[in-house]
Amino acid sequence: MQTPTLYLVIPCYNEQEVLPITAAKILEKLESLVSRGKITDNSRILFVDDGSKDPTWRILDDLTKTNPHFAAVKLARNAGHQNALLAGLTTAVELSDVMISMDADLQDDIGAIDAFVDKYLEGFDVVYGVRSTRKKDTFFKRNTALMFYKLMQSMGVDMVYNHADYRLMSKRAVVELLGYREVNVFLRGLVPMIGFPSCSVSYERNERFAGESKYPLAKMIAFAIQGITSLSVQPIRMITTVGVISFCASIASLLYYLALYFMDRTVPGWATVVISIWLLGGLQLLSIGIIGEYIAKTYLETKHRPRFIIESTIISGEKSA
Ligand code: UDP
Ligand code: MG
Repeated sequence: MQTPTLYLVIPCYNEQEVLPITAAKILEKLESLVSRGKITDNSRILFVDDGSKDPTWRILDDLTKTNPHFAAVKLARNAGHQNALLAGLTTAVELSDVMISMDADLQDDIGAIDAFVDKYLEGFDVVYGVRSTRKKDTFFKRNTALMFYKLMQSMGVDMVYNHADYRLMSKRAVVELLGYREVNVFLRGLVPMIGFPSCSVSYERNERFAGESKYPLAKMIAFAIQGITSLSVQPIRMITTVGVISFCASIASLLYYLALYFMDRTVPGWATVVISIWLLGGLQLLSIGIIGEYIAKTYLETKHRPRFIIESTIISGEKSA
């Protein structure tokens, strides 16, 4: 196989604390791969500034001036991690043969990149980075993540366990991925749907060495809901099941109370009445809420809005936009 051109795609949102160190370490890795002839010298480290409010863009802009291997894309506003990744892949797919997506905080061990590239050279189109342990994550994050994987699995979504967005994808895999035109993107669920030869490489996940997580609990929950509702219609089926069960139960109890009534053994059952009103009312509201979630998704999808807007691009050796 011909020596490939690799693009490392790194979304950054308010990452001023980590960028200088991240950039230096990744550059070292990239240059070592280039010098060993694993990848071409046209390979780049492509940072995507996801509408940061801190000096992230200024730092990236400066980096591109220090070394031609650094490249940067600036989104016009915060589009979210998944869309920032897509923006980076959309840019990179035109200029490279293979792409690796990773986070700016180096929680994912860059030592695994060599193995990723080797697997690509062996002929795999997708290489998933899988965390061998999550010891370094907080107890809370580890367990909520585990629950989420289990939940997704029970809803019939094919996901790679303990894999986040640290992965290698070949050009043709990314082209196929970009063909999924949905606005509600959940890459972890989409990539396995492509179906090209894939494999996993495991690595140790580190702690974030500076700055704080850009995924606070509220964003994590939103991300989980996004994952479920964009890939599975199971919740709607669950509503139907619950509806059928409660309908049957109410018919049965109606018959039971009618029987008691004719036997003249009714008791003042206001509690039962009040409880069932609350119970059914609650169930109905919940169901409407879940259905509303899907309708909202449909609404957003039908608009075909752009998923991200690129404001500027700096890649040395390429025409900048
Ligand atoms: N990120 C982004 N846009 C956002 C939120 C996060 O581009 O709106 C980036 C962030 O800069 C980092 C990656 O997504 O490179 C993962 O975020 P983080 O490390 O904060 O998440 P965690 O590892 O805590 O799940
Ligand atoms: Mg992180």
